[in-house]
Amino acid sequence: MPVLATVLGHPRIGIARELKKALEAYWSGATPAESLLATAQEIRTRHWSIMKEAGLDQVPCNDFSLYDHMLDMAVTVGAIPDRFQKIADPLNRYFALARGVQDRGAGIDLSPLEMTKWFDTNYHYIVPELDADQSFVLNPTKISAELAEAQALGITPRPVLPGPVTFLKLSKYADDVAAGLDTLELLPRLLPAYEELLALLAGHGVTWVQLDEPCLCFELDPASQQAYRTALTRLAGGAKRPGLLVATYFGSIGENLGLVTDSGCEALHLDLVRAPEELDGVLAALPAGMKLSLGVVDGRNVWRADLEQAHRTVRRAVDALGSERVMVASSCSLLHVPVDLDAETRLDAELKSWMAFAAQKVAEVRLLADAAQQEEPQDAAFVQAGAALARRRAAAAADNPAVRHRAEQVTEAMTRRGTPFAERSARQKRRFDLPLLPTTTIGSFPQSREVREARSKWRSGALDSEGYQDFLRAEIRRCIEKQEKLGLDVLVHGEFERTDMVEYFGEQLDGFAFTQNGWVQSYGSRCVKPPVLYGNVARPRPMTVEWSSFAQSLSKRPVKGMLTGPVTILQWSFVRNDQPRSETCREIALALRDEVADLEQAGISMIQMDEPAIREGLPLRRRDWPEYLEWAVAAFSLSTAGVSDETQIHTHMCYSEFGDILPSIVAMDADVLSIESSRSRMELLSHFRQYGYPNDVGPGIYDIHSPRVPTVEEMTTLLGLAAEVLPAERLWVNPDCGLKTRGWPEIEASLANMVQAARQIRLRLTPG
Ligand code: GLN
Ligand code: ZN
Repeated sequence: MPVLATVLGHPRIGIARELKKALEAYWSGATPAESLLATAQEIRTRHWSIMKEAGLDQVPCNDFSLYDHMLDMAVTVGAIPDRFQKIADPLNRYFALARGVQDRGAGIDLSPLEMTKWFDTNYHYIVPELDADQSFVLNPTKISAELAEAQALGITPRPVLPGPVTFLKLSKYADDVAAGLDTLELLPRLLPAYEELLALLAGHGVTWVQLDEPCLCFELDPASQQAYRTALTRLAGGAKRPGLLVATYFGSIGENLGLVTDSGCEALHLDLVRAPEELDGVLAALPAGMKLSLGVVDGRNVWRADLEQAHRTVRRAVDALGSERVMVASSCSLLHVPVDLDAETRLDAELKSWMAFAAQKVAEVRLLADAAQQEEPQDAAFVQAGAALARRRAAAAADNPAVRHRAEQVTEAMTRRGTPFAERSARQKRRFDLPLLPTTTIGSFPQSREVREARSKWRSGALDSEGYQDFLRAEIRRCIEKQEKLGLDVLVHGEFERTDMVEYFGEQLDGFAFTQNGWVQSYGSRCVKPPVLYGNVARPRPMTVEWSSFAQSLSKRPVKGMLTGPVTILQWSFVRNDQPRSETCREIALALRDEVADLEQAGISMIQMDEPAIREGLPLRRRDWPEYLEWAVAAFSLSTAGVSDETQIHTHMCYSEFGDILPSIVAMDADVLSIESSRSRMELLSHFRQYGYPNDVGPGIYDIHSPRVPTVEEMTTLLGLAAEVLPAERLWVNPDCGLKTRGWPEIEASLANMVQAARQIRLRLTPG
């Protein structure tokens, strides 16, 4: 029997982002639900047909979503919070859960469910909200409909479901439910819905179901282990059900292997791109009859597979298990890569020959499955892939030896400020003479319609570079004037010249390429187009100095130079896989270090290096955290530590759950840290109460994710709380994050209140 070929999921957004357009048209009221649903069906049909034609033996189904697969599962098991029940129309209710809804006339004002990052990706899922006495009722409408569509096309669909344990572990209780309860306690109530669903699918002729259980790649506490034992054995014990493929990805299954192998489930999927070392142990431990799905084609990156190496892996598995027990697959869902490389007409031909998007990865999987029987595959496609890889290696070796050499010469001393914070801080205080509780913002100001229009005119040639630069200078001037008038103490230039905080730097650095259509879903209808970091990173010329100098020339107050940190640039790009991420990160850090030096040279006295993505780069397993954190912190420090004591380094992060990585944040040794916190202030402050923080810190007191204008009183309350936990001399006053998605009127009102709040607390703290 031949080795089967399959993938864990397909991108949903469509090659031309059709889903995005259809969703946004529907949300705006421009089109009826029927058009949205028709587009969605077209997209599914197209993707299934592509996978069928490519010869996949099992094709994912129910991996499509109008918004998010976790939200779909919540709806499928009837986990819809009561407050949404008043919306009768299922489609509107679904989008209300995802996006919230405000209809003053109807007296409806519902905030959406929380959204958070899917493991270590930049995809955001909707966090199901459960009740302590939650009941689950199966609603198979979506999955049944999509199954029928797929079957009508004559393919063998393999429905994909978030597994029950991952579903519960990623869910949360509503705020008003007593804290400390574990969502896993709901497992006995949830499992019957899964059992019912599996029986139903079997009744429809489904032979395999894919249960996504990436939480098996975490270190599991005893309760979670027990939950896995209970869930998997119980589902495997069902009388009438399809075969169960338990899919793990984004890490290694490690010590959790037994939870699957002892369960009675028929198949296990491994992410062998992340954890290639796992194969032999698993082959030895797999019970007779259990099938193994080999995730050898990278679902997280855009490079062509090393087919020879993957082939050896497949052969090892076939030798150990026999071909009938082996499947070849993508490492994870292809959701995280763009749709089709063929749509790229402007990429450098050589670079393009190194790459593979979803469509190409599907073909690679098929090729590897076919080649499993041959010792030395001679297939033309195999030979071609090998030649491209050889060319890529040769090109990499010859790329930029100077950069590699410089990276090798980095010393520990280069990653440390020469002087301890206390002394630096004293000098900086003398230099800047700021008031107690200095006020500032995070960097960006509104990317208004005018800003976007000017940029697109310039890109299309309708506006020449000089005209565009004049426009930007005028925006900066206006922005500086407004900040001065508002009474802010430390200013920013507004970032009007940037579309995206990573793209802007990638476009100016060597080693990066850009796609035309390389969109990847970030959440709902939102997509990002990550740069492709393919070579040694170098900075041919200064990137931000002109804008920062211009902005500084307009004010006597300090204007912060604004940079994106090395870890964030790494994390939000598709990066080369032929050298460790840590090395690539160090190259980026060196380029940024030069930028920092140039900014300092140009008289910029405060430089902010944003690292909003440092936390999402954490590996799934805690035991792998120290290694990652060490090089991530070292890269940040390398980029910032070259300055004199009087130059003040700021950083910014967009999350508040940082208790567990606080020592690393301390080790970054930024003079000032601004951090998101207003949405979960208690959490942040409790971390500070417990561990303190030795340098200056600005806990965000204005939630920029909402258009509401916070009152002076709200902000004085927050500041007062912060001042109880941290010494006032080390406290800054700022919003949660950049203001680029907001509008000027609400910002001006909010910042005026923020400045007012700072003044009031200052008075309170310095009587007389
Ligand atoms: N300086 C950036 C801005 O203000 C930071 C963005 C972010 O934290 N994601 O937009
Ligand atoms: Zn932020």
